[in-house]
Amino acid sequence: MKVLVMLLLSAVAPGCRANFSYSQPPKLLLVSFDGFRADYLQDYEFPHLQSFIKDGVLVEHVKNVFITKTFPNHYSIVTGLYEESHGIVANSMYDRVTKKHFSDADDKDPFWWNEAVPIWVTNELQENRSSAAAMWPGTDILIHNTTPSYFMNYNPSVSFEERLNNITTWLSYSNPPVTFATLYWEEPDASGHKYGPEDRDNMRRVLNEIDGLIGSLVQKLKLVGLWENINVIITSDHGMSQCSEKRLINLDHCLDPSSYSLIDLSPVAAILPKINKTEVYDRLKNCSPHMNVYLKEDIPNRFYYQHNDRIQPIIVVADEGWRIVLNKSSSKLGDHGYDNSLPSMHPFLAAHGPAFHRGYKHGTIDMVDIYPMMCHILGLPPRPHNGTFGRTKCLLADQWCINLPEAIGIVVGALLVLTTLTCLIVVMQNRLSAPHSFSRLQLQEDDDDPLIG
Ligand SMILES: [Zn+2]
Repeated sequence: MKVLVMLLLSAVAPGCRANFSYSQPPKLLLVSFDGFRADYLQDYEFPHLQSFIKDGVLVEHVKNVFITKTFPNHYSIVTGLYEESHGIVANSMYDRVTKKHFSDADDKDPFWWNEAVPIWVTNELQENRSSAAAMWPGTDILIHNTTPSYFMNYNPSVSFEERLNNITTWLSYSNPPVTFATLYWEEPDASGHKYGPEDRDNMRRVLNEIDGLIGSLVQKLKLVGLWENINVIITSDHGMSQCSEKRLINLDHCLDPSSYSLIDLSPVAAILPKINKTEVYDRLKNCSPHMNVYLKEDIPNRFYYQHNDRIQPIIVVADEGWRIVLNKSSSKLGDHGYDNSLPSMHPFLAAHGPAFHRGYKHGTIDMVDIYPMMCHILGLPPRPHNGTFGRTKCLLADQWCINLPEAIGIVVGALLVLTTLTCLIVVMQNRLSAPHSFSRLQLQEDDDDPLIG
């Protein structure tokens, strides 16, 4: 009897397990290492990250959004919107109607965030699901009256280990289950600013530490039994450009400080004129060859950075590696915020888990494409966004896609097959028709015979 029960149980158990894992909603952990420039991956060693990529996918460049700053880009990742549409248009903002100010140290007013709905809010509002966050910008704020069920108030002195421990605990033991979680870390941005991305010795040390954190992340997920079933995205908000004390644009040499309010400074200065706008514009226009000055209405369309009241009447965009300063020195050796078409401003994206292919590399996606991909993985209805789901299909295990080399291979292969078949048909035809033409020749000879004769 005992044997019979055991046999029955062993026959039923795999089916139960399959049903159990199938009924679990998919889980996604989104990780950002601030300021992780895409080509660090080629220039430095990352044993842990490379092994993560080997069993997952890599997008070598993520074209981020203008301006290439931290708050705006983190909000674009989780909303799929350009800055003009989600409203976080800089790390420092001013709203002329309400006279409110926003900065990275004073970001708690939901007013600034409510122009969009981030994915953790959408996920939180679904039945039987919850969200968790460790320091991702905006996650400690009541956006549309909702925070993630589990979050940490922003505090840069909290260690990576503590953030990771919280996230894995919440992912493991919560009810309703945490299906979407985010984790944010301030490096290599802080060191990129301090040393500059071309300081190889210091950057090697810092990036080596980050690779160690990625190793501990994977190890921790394995330890708590999450690794096989969770989807993990590792990405960043922007890259970093090398700056120099010799490449400074002194705004005080361009404008009288009394003629404008300075809302944001470098490398994109946001200027609110106090006198005639055209006069301020003309003075800026003739001030330095190392910057572009735009009236708000003339900001190039490719920036998608115009249609929002928080974008000031004049913006000044410094050339790559140049910094805009006031009449005082600046010690930053690296910066970001520049034109988002510059490769130095781009981060990368790596992903691993059941939703993703294994060992697949992809060239470029737009930052706003990440949101519809995450919604697809979680089975969430996406809100209106600026991304294109089709651009991420090749990364996903449940999607069919052809990339360009494959498409070229298929066309060339088809042409080869067609050519071979045509040649075969011609040869066969020649062979079949050869005796016939010989007999015609004979006939002609026969016809000629009498004439000759
Ligand atoms: Zn930064």
